[in-house]
Amino acid sequence: MLNFYRRFIPNAAEIQRILYDLVKGKKERDKTTIEWSEAAVQAFQTCKNSIAQAALLAPPNSETKLSLVVDASNTDIAGTHFLDGRDFIIYTDHKPLTFAFKQTGEKTSPRQQRHLEFISQFSTDIRYISGIQNTVADAFSRIDEIGIPSEIDYEEMARAQTDDEELLTLQAANSYLVFKTISLEPHGIPLHCDVSTGIVRPCVPKAFRTTIINVIHSLSHSGAKATANAVNQRFIWTSLKKDCTEFCKWCIPCQKSKVSRHVKSPKGDFSLPSAIFSHIHLDVVGPLPPSKGYRYCLKAVDRFTRRPEVFPVIDEKAKTIADTFYSGWISRFGVPEVITTDQGRNFESDLFPFPCQIFSHY
Ligand SMILES: [Zn+2]
Repeated sequence: MLNFYRRFIPNAAEIQRILYDLVKGKKERDKTTIEWSEAAVQAFQTCKNSIAQAALLAPPNSETKLSLVVDASNTDIAGTHFLDGRDFIIYTDHKPLTFAFKQTGEKTSPRQQRHLEFISQFSTDIRYISGIQNTVADAFSRIDEIGIPSEIDYEEMARAQTDDEELLTLQAANSYLVFKTISLEPHGIPLHCDVSTGIVRPCVPKAFRTTIINVIHSLSHSGAKATANAVNQRFIWTSLKKDCTEFCKWCIPCQKSKVSRHVKSPKGDFSLPSAIFSHIHLDVVGPLPPSKGYRYCLKAVDRFTRRPEVFPVIDEKAKTIADTFYSGWISRFGVPEVITTDQGRNFESDLFPFPCQIFSHY
């Protein structure tokens, strides 16, 4: 990240010299301890300040196009540069995203469509940048790699390990695991860990498992698989995957905000009318501004021909509607077989077990 901003840091080489000297000539993944002197601490602070200064560049040139560089890890999303109601390009190392605005709507879930719709308010120009080039956003999104969950009491865990039967079975079974005992400072309590992956992973007794999953899952409420992977990177026990899946299933915030199952209702099957004026749709519009005492409209549409007719009515009482429909429509086109309404008040009343009662009067 320092390197990315080096052109904006005055005397960058001079400030970073002490830190460079510490790692000079060392190989990648060199395990030798670094002598962390007072001067080195000072240099590190100066570097941090210089980058803070450098990242606060001058106000942007309003003539040029801005870019937003984004990256996400298991726990964080990071973006650099600021955009204030301006046209800009989004750079991401997540290649499928670059096609997000070019694909057909059928491929995306309604939820994704809503997200895309929100993003499109700002920009639809998404381009690919490889993770290696995406230095700054990448560095920000990796902040979780620096810290480990601090809510876990490793000394307590080490004590609980002494009467953990599962640990004995794990050690006895000739598996791929490589056990190593680490003594915890300052009391030198032994903690049994697995080192087969190159990372020290403590074997977790039952009592600590939920806390651990909770700490890791709560960072971003990732799905069961991602949670299990994140836990598995740092800890180990036999039913780890199953426990993570269970935990994610019961997590209240996840249940509240995630859609785990999409219900798609089948398309309705509507039979088509076969004769003219056999099936009529009725609806009442209003109240409208009065005209010659009329405040409502009765709409009637024949399904077969789509012929619409509108009749003015004084009120929306069932009797008025029925009378109007009789004189306006039935007297001209005959009695329909089916009437479809939206079941409004006027149609629900006693009179509108239509047409039997009403039209028996005529
Ligand atoms: Zn959750």
